[in-house]
Amino acid sequence: MNKRDYYEVLGLSKGASQDEIKKAYRKLSKQYHPDINKEADADEKFKEISEAYEVLSDEQKRAAYDQFGHAGPNQGFGGFGGSADGFGFEDIFSSFFGGGGSRRRDPNAPRKGDDLQYSMTIEFEEAVFGKEKEIEIAKEENCDTCNGSGAKPGTHPETCTHCNGAGQVNIAQDTPFGRIQTKRACHQCHGTGKMIKDKCSTCHGKGTVNKRKKIKVTIPAGVDDGQQLRVTGQGEPGKNGGPAGDLYIVFRVKQDPRFERDGDDIYYELPLTFAQAALGDEIEVPTVQGKVKLKIPAGTQSQTKFRLKGKGVKNVHGYGVGDQHVIVKVITPNKLTEKQKQLLREFAEISGDIPEEQGSSLFDKIKRTIKGE
Ligand SMILES: [Zn+2]
Ligand SMILES: [Zn+2]
Repeated sequence: MNKRDYYEVLGLSKGASQDEIKKAYRKLSKQYHPDINKEADADEKFKEISEAYEVLSDEQKRAAYDQFGHAGPNQGFGGFGGSADGFGFEDIFSSFFGGGGSRRRDPNAPRKGDDLQYSMTIEFEEAVFGKEKEIEIAKEENCDTCNGSGAKPGTHPETCTHCNGAGQVNIAQDTPFGRIQTKRACHQCHGTGKMIKDKCSTCHGKGTVNKRKKIKVTIPAGVDDGQQLRVTGQGEPGKNGGPAGDLYIVFRVKQDPRFERDGDDIYYELPLTFAQAALGDEIEVPTVQGKVKLKIPAGTQSQTKFRLKGKGVKNVHGYGVGDQHVIVKVITPNKLTEKQKQLLREFAEISGDIPEEQGSSLFDKIKRTIKGE
């Protein structure tokens, strides 16, 4: 099973304030506390809530989570983009915040490139059935001329003479509390630990150039609005031989004029004439999977629901297929010919003033509820 998004676990949006996080945690932890809640999965839910709170309530951990998610392998749609990238949850925290806390990282150590995010608007049908699409994104790529070193071909970056390649320098300061040693980024190499004498003329010593790159994206069938796909290794290039970052594609699904989607289920409003509803009919109903015959029994009321099993959306994680719910809407005509009016008046006369159902409507409603219609 994929690990659930921490924000989702707490029922929050990404921009939630610390106050909202605290409130959500208090409410949910009370609700699922194993001492109070005796449901079978309460224990597990409680653990999940506690873990989510632990990360989101800590600004540093939260920042890392926002950037890396659950840190790799289990993120996204599992299997997409292939293998684990070697970063585990623990690894990220220890490399970012581990040790002395204020310790700066070695500027020469391999570093993963930054992740990129791309918002992709897709058609309703593309989300339902999936599709292969090509996108073009602007991103930093390693410079071909210097192979990313930033130095003119034939030359190499040299170790910074000011910091001896450490990227930082010790600064001793005399204060009223004594002598304090602090570390600062080296001003000569800007913390990179390297000096480039002859800069590459293509990238001007940066080692990267901004390029527009075409990337093939396979939209997974069943993807829903707001879900994201991780494309491994298509983010910014890594530093010092580190792996490239990842590209996160966030899908924005367009609405469909006929269907409303809720998870894997589809809702469809079926307009019926009074005559069709009263006499019954057999009609064709559109579904995302094509037209389906539906028998309308005589005496069908507005708001009656029919379920077309398995005519919804295929689950993006492969957990079956949703249903289509058809909701009847009986349309009262607003333009009538003289003949129609005459017939309706006759109909009204034989029917009497009080709708037949009125006396038993409550009973019928209860019956329908029990039958689950
Ligand atoms: Zn270059
Ligand atoms: Zn330096």
